[in-house]
Amino acid sequence: MTVPVLEVRGVSKSFPGVKALDDVSFAIGRGEVVGLIGENGAGKSTLLKILNGVYQPDSGAIFVNGQQVSVASPRQAFDSGIAMVFQEQSILPTLTVAENIFLGREEEFLRFGLISKARMKAAAAEELKKVHLDIDPGMRCADLSFAARQMVEIAKALSLNSRIRGHVTILLDEPTSVLEQKEVDLLFRIIRDLRDRASFVFISHRLDEVLQVSGRVYVMRDGKVVKDLPSKGTSVKDLHQLMVGRQLHHEYYREARQAVPSATAVLAAEGLGRQGAFHDVSFTLHEGEVLGIAGVVGSGREELARCLAGHVRPDSGALAVAGRAVRFAAPYDATAAGVGLVPAERKIEGLVAPFSVAENMTLAALPRFVSNGAIRFAAELGVAREWIARLKIKTPSPDTMVGSLSGGNQQKVVLAKWRIAGVRVLILDHPTRGIDVGAKEDVYDLIRDMTAEGLAVILLGDTLEEVIGLSSRILVMRDGAITARLEAPPGGKPQQVELLRHMV
Ligand code: ADP
Ligand code: MG
Repeated sequence: MTVPVLEVRGVSKSFPGVKALDDVSFAIGRGEVVGLIGENGAGKSTLLKILNGVYQPDSGAIFVNGQQVSVASPRQAFDSGIAMVFQEQSILPTLTVAENIFLGREEEFLRFGLISKARMKAAAAEELKKVHLDIDPGMRCADLSFAARQMVEIAKALSLNSRIRGHVTILLDEPTSVLEQKEVDLLFRIIRDLRDRASFVFISHRLDEVLQVSGRVYVMRDGKVVKDLPSKGTSVKDLHQLMVGRQLHHEYYREARQAVPSATAVLAAEGLGRQGAFHDVSFTLHEGEVLGIAGVVGSGREELARCLAGHVRPDSGALAVAGRAVRFAAPYDATAAGVGLVPAERKIEGLVAPFSVAENMTLAALPRFVSNGAIRFAAELGVAREWIARLKIKTPSPDTMVGSLSGGNQQKVVLAKWRIAGVRVLILDHPTRGIDVGAKEDVYDLIRDMTAEGLAVILLGDTLEEVIGLSSRILVMRDGAITARLEAPPGGKPQQVELLRHMV
């Protein structure tokens, strides 16, 4: 390699209780697309945040075009030609799309001492065009879908390319986990088109994507770079093995442990409907069952899931829990009846980021931890410790802020919360979205454990493969209605094409 455009040598970084990076060296050449993979908590985001000036390394050095630099802030990184798409998104919902894209760089639009909104909007429109995002740059980001916000985040990072002269480096931290395939394809096309002007670091848990888009892959484990290898001639299985240091499970979805659902119904929907979302939905969910719901975006399955958990109200039909008619006016009513939801957007609905692991775990069962008007902290901590051990949650302590845990560990905290609350029905909306293979396997194990104890699960899976692998029965939805009901016993799983036929 000639002089790398960006390089770190011997970088270490600790947080209270964790050594996130341990003597990491990493280099990216001009026009190179480098993949960065590793299990949750391996240190990938920390490494990119150091390159982007969000964190300062404890030791080691950073070089840009062979010159040692200190990157003290994201602004300074930007001026050195480095921009980043953050895993947790850096978009501010109350600002407009244009304001977000040029956040911190408003002076580029100064005219006679005033910021020209019109020029900023026009420049934003140019950036949006590049990512084929057809939205008004004057729109507030709060009004955008999660996927659209992600495309704005990407447009913001790519805007570096048109604002800075010379070669740039764009750091992409799991940009695709909330995107549809069409948007992923588009992003990859943009990456390829920009390669003569830009280098990319690409983090994804979808290893096939990593191999598809990058020429070289760095593998991290426990804060260290354990391998650096060319994509050519490398398989997904090879990468998986390097990441977790063990062989890919034959029994990925634990089919052998799939519980035989009992005859006891815990949740029954009869002719459930909500204007504009879904209609005539009837099904019965049994103890120990995983009921998968498959459908494309817009099929009504997300709305159905939210309705079953009391987040939105149905306007027709009936719902019963354990044979008793229920009407949920709010999520609290659903929880009280024994129904919990693990939402797809963990950071928004599933967890309270500024609360500790222990506080989040006991949130849905709080009355049990209060006596005489005071929270029984010792009891809370005791229960939290027990679940941290049971679910093998990687956290320095029960008092750690949940927001600082990796995605997979956050997801385990959400699952613990509902187990502690003692729910009988758990609705899992994309429970493995944005978490790595190792943590996914842990989640699959947990689902098998929970159903073995009689818990009933409704699953909106991330992929068809996952829905088929985990479910005992599958409902397929299209245009708001159920179009197929398929049995999925171990050894007798339906094919993906069978589901697809009823989906589109
Ligand atoms: P990855 O992106 O590979 O999942 P991260 O870089 O986010 O991993 O995290 C590496 C380790 O550092 C994890 O153990 C994580 O909990 C910890 N960590 C990351 N950011 C912080 C922070 N701001 N405060 C404390 N610990 C952190
Ligand atoms: Mg990360």
